[in-house]
Amino acid sequence: MDLFSLLEKHDYGAVHVGRDAATGMCCIVAIHDTRLGPAIGGCRFLPYADERDALIDALRLARGMTYKGALAGLPHGGGKTVMLRPDKLFDRAALFRAFGRFIDGLGGRYYTAEDSGTGIEDMEVVRSVTKQVVGTGGGSGDPSPFTALGVRRGIEACVKIALGRASLEGIRVAVQGVGHVGYHLCRELSACGAALSVADVDPLKAERAEREFGAAVVPIEKIFGVECDVLAPCALGSALNDDTIPRIRAKVVAGAANNQLAEPRHGDDLHSRGILYAPDYAINAGGLINVALELGGYDAQKARAQTMKVYDTILEIAERSRHSLTPTYRVADLMVEEKLGKVAPRTSFPPGVLS
Ligand code: NAD
Repeated sequence: MDLFSLLEKHDYGAVHVGRDAATGMCCIVAIHDTRLGPAIGGCRFLPYADERDALIDALRLARGMTYKGALAGLPHGGGKTVMLRPDKLFDRAALFRAFGRFIDGLGGRYYTAEDSGTGIEDMEVVRSVTKQVVGTGGGSGDPSPFTALGVRRGIEACVKIALGRASLEGIRVAVQGVGHVGYHLCRELSACGAALSVADVDPLKAERAEREFGAAVVPIEKIFGVECDVLAPCALGSALNDDTIPRIRAKVVAGAANNQLAEPRHGDDLHSRGILYAPDYAINAGGLINVALELGGYDAQKARAQTMKVYDTILEIAERSRHSLTPTYRVADLMVEEKLGKVAPRTSFPPGVLS
């Protein structure tokens, strides 16, 4: 595997690889940056085509966590684990115990959490052998309402900049995906007087939004073309691509989904069409803010207050974008890079790594 060129491409100094012969546990823990504090990022447990794909997923996701945490003002860097699914029968609890022991040996540089393919029960097992875990049963609970609150605040900021409106009363929002976050977002928006259109591959979820919030249900292939003020992608990644962008009628794209831009150039495309795009990792940080607060003694009021500040972050990004004529996704990246650069140069290893 072209290991070091992959590390260079994804801007890395160190990646930790663990193997436990007794349980068959094999994991890749990518710690992208610890300049602002110990890294936080979930543990994925999914089938991968090969080890290279698993490594790239960990590298990409951990880097995203650095950017999300930095912009949210958290004292944390970005990390992510990919645990490889054994191809033989395995003891799930033993695997997660071995993983917990592995991250316990990383000198406090990384906190794990649940992610795709893992759940609270797995994190409880990890918790039995290490303190390096957040988001367990006794902690901060479901992050989705906090993510949705942050997205609502981000939409308010975008609406102020793009439409000159100080409230969401009468603003038309089209929500793609009304699962965990999308549902709570509809609740937030409806309470502010917004008019909703929704689409979901699961008709029961769309109907629930119709029943509870008076949303208009739209076929999934039509949601991007709905005549509206704000489009909120809250389903899967790569929602903003060559096919969907030309159909967008909204002046604002602001939603919860991760990795919304299929490629960076799609952020340029939105910018050149005069559509204000709220960078995904800036607007969807509420869940991370909520879980990170577990480490200082969890306080739901504090999590809410900090999540409300997503408004200021999105406002700053949008204003800087206007003044510098730079697409918002680039502005957000630059803001993070500025912040990290002020703490320490990228090239230095934090104390402890070389010891
Ligand atoms: P979820 O699986 O609960 O909801 C996603 C919804 O989208 C589901 O109801 C699904 O049926 C629907 N969907 C899938 N494909 C669709 C399509 N083509 N058209 C319309 N609907 C479609 O997931 P979630 O936890 O609500 O997360 C939504 C997005 O937000 C994801 O991209 C996730 O990574 C991101 N995110 C979530 C959180 C969180 O707190 N849960 C935090 C940050 C980012």
